[in-house]
Amino acid sequence: MLGLSIKEVSAALREGKLSATELCRKCLNRIKKTHYLNAYITVTEELAMKQAQEADHRLLRGKPLSPLDGVPFSVKDNFCTKNIETTCASYMLKGYCPPFSATVVQKLLDQGAVLVGKTNLDEFAMGAGSTDGVFGPVRNPWSYAVPYREQSVAQDLDTDWVITGGSSGGSAAAVASLSSFMALGSDTGGSTRNPGSLCGVVALKPTYGLLSRHGLIPLVNSMDVPGILTRSVHDAATVLGVLQGQDEKDSTTIQVPDSPAGLLEHFDIRDICVGIPKEYHAPMLCEETLTQWKRVADLFEGAGARVKEVSLPHTQHSIVCYHVLCCCEVASNMARFDGLQYGHRSEVESSTEALYATTRHEGFNNVVRRRILSGNYFLLKQNYDQYFVKAQQMRRLIAEDFWGVFQSGVDVLLTPTTLRDAAQYAEFIQEDNRTRSAQDDIFTQPVNMAGVPAVTVPTALSSRGLPIGLQLIGQSFQDMKLLTVAHWMEQQLDFPVIHFHDDAEERKTDKLQRERECKLGS
Ligand code: GLN
Repeated sequence: MLGLSIKEVSAALREGKLSATELCRKCLNRIKKTHYLNAYITVTEELAMKQAQEADHRLLRGKPLSPLDGVPFSVKDNFCTKNIETTCASYMLKGYCPPFSATVVQKLLDQGAVLVGKTNLDEFAMGAGSTDGVFGPVRNPWSYAVPYREQSVAQDLDTDWVITGGSSGGSAAAVASLSSFMALGSDTGGSTRNPGSLCGVVALKPTYGLLSRHGLIPLVNSMDVPGILTRSVHDAATVLGVLQGQDEKDSTTIQVPDSPAGLLEHFDIRDICVGIPKEYHAPMLCEETLTQWKRVADLFEGAGARVKEVSLPHTQHSIVCYHVLCCCEVASNMARFDGLQYGHRSEVESSTEALYATTRHEGFNNVVRRRILSGNYFLLKQNYDQYFVKAQQMRRLIAEDFWGVFQSGVDVLLTPTTLRDAAQYAEFIQEDNRTRSAQDDIFTQPVNMAGVPAVTVPTALSSRGLPIGLQLIGQSFQDMKLLTVAHWMEQQLDFPVIHFHDDAEERKTDKLQRERECKLGS
């Protein structure tokens, strides 16, 4: 039952084949059983059961609010949720319970969806591994699935596991491990698509401005968008249909006239032109991902779509440019965490300055501190033109690359999502975090810089038994068209359903719990 799509489970709920409370309890049990993944920071058990009972009343009367009524979902812990602790996986926000919910969360609740928990992430969504939050790293469910485990039977379950990617790794793991039917992530430079791809789920980064960011604790305001993680493209379209639209609380949102609420009905793959950006043949791209990329391009061509090579000439500058802009906005965004307004407050109160400094030192991890420092450096009067202004100019050129290609008649771009399948945790944490994130986001960051929509679709398993995803990038505000093409692609692929290895299900979780407690106490 937990492996069903939203479409299927919603039909079962409406037909009375199962109740929302039954379904909610199953998800909560699943969360407990897969506790070792560390996908959730907070499980909202009581609230979820209450919401599910309310959904049952409506369903019994034959009056569901929407196709999402009674469907369990989870939310990355950088979205505000009313009276529910919202931590951004940072010690800085420990104990912070917002007085309101983010617009996108509220919209899902208003449709009757059932919130089962808040998911784990990199601190303040800075990272590409979901390894850098105060609650410890998230484990990729595929590390405990049959193909990966069968190849590594001799190895230890506690040390031999792969990362989810990030920073929305908890949300991706929640959907992949079947404890949530959908999850919200955030995507600033790839944080929804990267873990979506590494965890074998569908992950959509909508057009900037289509969904409200109100209540999403900002990383880079000019690039952040709420992301949607589901098990099928159809489900992503359903959730997008509910979430899109102007919000008076976010002045960067707009109402798109005649915006479809679901996948397009009249669609012929032969009318589609697919662009393959030549600059995305990155030297670090692994052979297996390249093979899948070519295979899927051939599938499009074989079905009558036009496939052509295109150029996005400024791609190579996007990593550096993203880094400068990200740090500048981070430096300004993080200023609000001063020990007075939210969460953690240091006991050192000898002066206002000492209070600020020690609170921020105690509250933020190294990654966050380093970005604040870099951002303030780039924004110094003598550096501003050289860094910030240059990066903004480059950003414009990167965006124009996309606009030019789409104007030339290309409907979607087909690219890899990540360079390779998921890395082993032990390997991943050896490298410097900044270099690591930068490399891993090479195919996703330019998309945020241009504001266009993109979706990753699970494509195949690698020889290690781990998911490989491919990304489709579309034109601004043509998200449903993009998803319609993605839906077609998904139908051709036959990506396997996750099947857990028995040992993994039975393992003890005490060790992880101890690690979490230690970290929080320190
Ligand atoms: N990995 C990128 C970073 O660390 C993107 C993060 C994100 O999209 N939230 O900035």
